[in-house]
Parts: sequence; structure tokens; C-alpha cells
Amino acid sequence: MLNPDVITRVGAKLSQATGIWELMEDLGHALTVDPDMRMLGGGNPAMVPEFTQAARQRLKQMLEEPETVAAMLGNYDPPRGHPRFIEAFAALLRRTYGWPVQPEHVAITPGSQCATFFLINLFAGQDRAGKQRKILLPLCPEYLGYADQGLEPDIFVACRPKLEWIEGPNRHLFKYHIDLAVVEERLRQGDIAAMLISRPTNPSGNVLADDEIRALSGLASQFGIPIILDQAYGVPFPAIVYTSIQPVYAPHFILLFSLSKIGLPGTRTGIVVGPAEVTAAVASLTAVAGLANPTLGQQMVLPWIEDGSILEIGPRWLQPFYNARRLKAREWLHAAFERARVPWAMHADEGAFFHWLWLPELKISSREFCQRLKERKVLTVPGEYFFYGLEENWTHRHQCLRINYSGHENVVREAVEIIADEAAQNQR
Ligand code: PLP
Repeated sequence: MLNPDVITRVGAKLSQATGIWELMEDLGHALTVDPDMRMLGGGNPAMVPEFTQAARQRLKQMLEEPETVAAMLGNYDPPRGHPRFIEAFAALLRRTYGWPVQPEHVAITPGSQCATFFLINLFAGQDRAGKQRKILLPLCPEYLGYADQGLEPDIFVACRPKLEWIEGPNRHLFKYHIDLAVVEERLRQGDIAAMLISRPTNPSGNVLADDEIRALSGLASQFGIPIILDQAYGVPFPAIVYTSIQPVYAPHFILLFSLSKIGLPGTRTGIVVGPAEVTAAVASLTAVAGLANPTLGQQMVLPWIEDGSILEIGPRWLQPFYNARRLKAREWLHAAFERARVPWAMHADEGAFFHWLWLPELKISSREFCQRLKERKVLTVPGEYFFYGLEENWTHRHQCLRINYSGHENVVREAVEIIADEAAQNQR
């Protein structure tokens, strides 16, 4: 039994019931032992038919190749990742985008979740001079998976964005914009070690435009800090994005890639691209924490990295699939909330596969609201989890929730009806 009196502070912090633990518990149960639950919760990708077919074919092919079976099942890789994979990945970025990426700029991790755990603790906390350093999140709300990753407490500083209404007289669509003045002012305090941002942003589906990235990049250069750019849903792959954006790279960027949203979350494969000292540190952390990385994902996609076809999977198969789901879910939301006569709004759905709903007349907290939905077999994620690091008590924290619309159409449709009905019962 774990005695709370003898457990360390770090142990207690990491082993408590965190938001990400709860989300993954609920998601995992809904997908395994509770099939009646309407799963609009965590970030599980859909089984996109064309990709699923390609993955099955590739697996069959791999089993026919003795050297691939050995690389996949029989050998430990170096902690940085499989050398051929790393070389191929760097070469793909060089020839496609002209970026000066060499193998020493690449490191594999067991999922990008693990990459942020390593990076956050490399940069944030007490430095060797005793100074407390923090991670700045330029756009709050931000991915709840980062929230509990710091070994030390209070390592996040989040910036409240500006809000813009972007559609029509009935005001249902809004968008968060980074407030650059607020970001700059916070950077001036001199205790920020790195900026961290997801593009597309989980939970809101916001996608930072190229000029916003340029502005952040300028600030990072000016203050001499790196930007960690989490591209779990973004470009170059899986490219689940509905606006037009370009991939970016510069010496002060640390890019995070993942094979999860392409359709391979079970392989646990994250890829870090950044300064050689950073990726070397990531490789050391991998050795300490787990010796080596999972090999299956690297071996599966190696030919697609070598021939560049990994870059086509998003535009050809994933984007059309998720875009169709996105538009349908939007329609159902409009219809259901109209019928229920509930004031509501949603964030511009520019990327990923979430709708971020805002219920300004909700009279209970989002957490309680989502609990009631769960009792009605609808799994969603309450807003409260995404506002860590923000000092002020912004109402969005309690009035928003995230829904994943990538599930079966009937499930999403029924769930949306229940959400609107429950909202009608709980409005002021
Ligand atoms: N970053 C974002 C924004 C995510 O939504 C997720 C998962 O949902 C991750 C990182 C972690 O993904 P993985 O560890 O599967 O690569």
C-alpha cells in the first residue's frame, strides 16, 4: 500500500488523480469494457478506412521480412531511435522543406506526450543558479496533457487570448487570438524558459496562422528562448487542418511530431526535431526512463518516410474524413441547441477533431455538467482542465467543454442531442 506520509512530493504530484489520468481512464474504458458510453471524450483518432487498410497491408508485408521482424520485436534500438528511421526523417525534412535537419537534430520518444514530459522538465523548475523558470503558454486554453507534467509545482504561465466573433448576426462562432502584448509583457519578467503551444490547439481547434507563428518566433528570438511547437494534429502530418498553413522551422524551434493522430496511437511514437543539445538530452532521458523506444511505429512508417508518402496520408484520407465529420457535427449542434433554446457558441473549428463549446448561461460548473452527461452515457471533457497556469478566473473555464466528433455518426448525433437537452435543464 502506498503510504501518503512517506511518499515523496514528486511521487504525490505525479500519482494523484490528474485530469489526463481521468480522461485516459474514461476513454480506455469506453473503448474496451463500456461500449454503451458515447465516446466524445479524449483524443482517440478514428479508424479512417483507407488508412486502416494501408496499415494492415504494411503489417502483413512486415511479417514477411525477417529483418523487419527482428528490428521490430527482437532488438533494442539506441535511445535516440532507430538510426535508419532517424536518417530518413531528417532527409525527408531536408528535401521537402529545405530545412537544415541532420540526424543529430532528431530523437524518438514513446509518444509525444512523453516528449513534452521530458522537455518541460528540462526547461522548467529551479535552474542551477537557483532561479525558478517557467513555461509560457501563449494561448490559454491549452492541452490538458501538459498540466501535470512538471516535477516541480507552478511551472506554467498561461496568457488569456482576445476573443473575436467571426460569423453572422446570431453570433455562434468565435475565435481566440493570441494577445501578443500580454505575451511580451510576461516575457519581460525574465523567468520564462520556453514557450509551448499546440498547433492546432487542443482543445479549441484554433490553428495559429503563419503570421502569428512569425510573431511568436520573433518574440522567442528577442528573449532568447525556444518555442516548443506540438504538431500532434498539424502539418506536415497528420495535417488534420482546415485552414491553409505552412510548416515552420528555425534554430530556436523544437518541433514535436506524433504518429498517433495519423491512426497509430497504439505504437506510441513521438518525434522531436530541434537543436542537437536538446535532442541529445531527450535521448538520455529515454535511456534513463525506458532504455529505448517502441519500435513498431518506426518500422511501420519507415517506407512512407523514405518515399515521402507519409505527407499524402493527411490530405488524401484523413482531412476529408474528419472534415465531413466536423461539418455534420456542426449542423447537429446548431439544430439541437436551436431546438433546446439554449444560448451557445463554438470556437472556429480550424483543425484537429474537436468542437469547443461555450455555454454562457450554464448555472453549474462545466465539470459538474460533464458529470451529468456521463450519467447519461455521454463522455466529454470539461473546460476546467484546460486553464492551468491562468491566474484570473475567466468564465470560459467553467462554461466550456470539449467534444471529440471523430466517433460514429449516430453516436455523435445522439450525444449532441443529449448535451443540448442537459444544457437546457441547467441554464440560468
Ligand atoms: N499533444 C496534443 C495536443 C495531443 O492532443 C496529444 C494527444 O491527444 C498529445 C500531444 C499526445 O499524443 P501522443 O503521446 O499519442 O503522441
